[in-house]
Amino acid sequence: MPFPYEAPVSQTLFDRAAVVTPGGVNSPVRAFRAVGGSPRFMVSGTGPYLTDADGREYVDLVCSWGPMILGHAQPEVIAAVQEAVARGTSFGTPGEGEVELAEQIVARIDPVEQVRLVSSGTEATMSAIRLARGFTGRAKVVKFAGCYHGHVDALLAAAGSGVATFGLPDTPGVTGAQAGDTIVLPYNDIEAVRAAFAAHPGEIACVITEASPGNMGVVPPLPGFNQGLKDVCAENGALYISDEVMTGFRVSRTGWYGIDGVRPDLMTFGKVMGGGFPAAAFGGRADVMAHLAPAGPVYQAGTLSGNPVATAAGVAQLKLLDEAAYEKVDAASAEVRSLVTEAFTKAGVAHRLQVAGNMFSVFFTDRDVTDYDSAKSQEAFRFTAFFHSMLSQGVYLPPSAFESWFVSTTHDERAIERIAAALPSAARAAAEATA
Ligand code: PLP
Repeated sequence: MPFPYEAPVSQTLFDRAAVVTPGGVNSPVRAFRAVGGSPRFMVSGTGPYLTDADGREYVDLVCSWGPMILGHAQPEVIAAVQEAVARGTSFGTPGEGEVELAEQIVARIDPVEQVRLVSSGTEATMSAIRLARGFTGRAKVVKFAGCYHGHVDALLAAAGSGVATFGLPDTPGVTGAQAGDTIVLPYNDIEAVRAAFAAHPGEIACVITEASPGNMGVVPPLPGFNQGLKDVCAENGALYISDEVMTGFRVSRTGWYGIDGVRPDLMTFGKVMGGGFPAAAFGGRADVMAHLAPAGPVYQAGTLSGNPVATAAGVAQLKLLDEAAYEKVDAASAEVRSLVTEAFTKAGVAHRLQVAGNMFSVFFTDRDVTDYDSAKSQEAFRFTAFFHSMLSQGVYLPPSAFESWFVSTTHDERAIERIAAALPSAARAAAEATA
């Protein structure tokens, strides 16, 4: 029996789901394919806890992949949503909520002079790239292996080796033409970026990077890397796009920008700014944003963009995210990290715990992880054993070794004690795991 417990109601739901939905899920990572077993179907969340369809409670270290930074069912966010929803759910006209949310973003993030709201991080990055191409009149885009920017066709290219490799699509359905203008480079390698610009003078519209990557596990930029990107872009007339969908409003009040201070031309946001609803955004320099329709010629639109319920949730969540809130999230993150380090050290498991603000993840390796290749060289099979031990003890981790862990303001002593209690045996399971 590979998995030490059963969840019959979740299993029944998963079986039903698999009949009507490919793979039984609406986003692949939810299916537990990387760790095996069947996903838990959640029915409710409160603070740092999730309850599944079998009535089991978990301490949640996923937080909906980032957005739930105030914990689940935060009363003021719920009240704002209830108030908004009672007034109607979508008008297809401008509304005050979207102005308020845009004003909050512009007020917090200095490089963002104007912002356009969309419904997902994917839309945000897709639109930012279109705008960069429209603004510069150039076609090529530089991205980094291991950085994820949503399922934008042109950005689903991470294959290739060496410098300035042209992106090969790594999913069927993305054509060579769609990915052919994408140049995929190794993360944290500024010389590779310089070489790509030298090889394609006047052709590169933008460099897009996760502000601090969390989608190959947590791999922060080396000192000076983001500044180097900004400088190379500026020298070559290209735009520097910082994707803060994951880090924005999470790692600080002003996201990763607040930590490294490098000023992007365009930025993308999602997750936290939507308060758990589909709301995302891209924004930046006013002279670039002026190229967007209807002010300019670059088309971009959305039936549900700036949805009144989503914007109400986002505004309520951002209002609550003051310095004190980030101190709480940072403190909870630091506590969990020190417990994790202690457990793996005691169990004799080679590991690297990597940190970006309050985001963190564990790599099962004895080497620092600085790019996608070094991330992939970890012993991911140890994570599988660790994950299932934690799950069986009521701690819900991301079901993949290549994802960030997330905490919230509500991860209090009780929640952290439950994590502490589960860690030693889970770390032993990781130690004993075999490939
Ligand atoms: N950009 C980054 C850095 C992300 O982490 C994600 C999602 O995880 C996206 C973009 C895509 O966002 P969404 O899933 O809302 O489309």
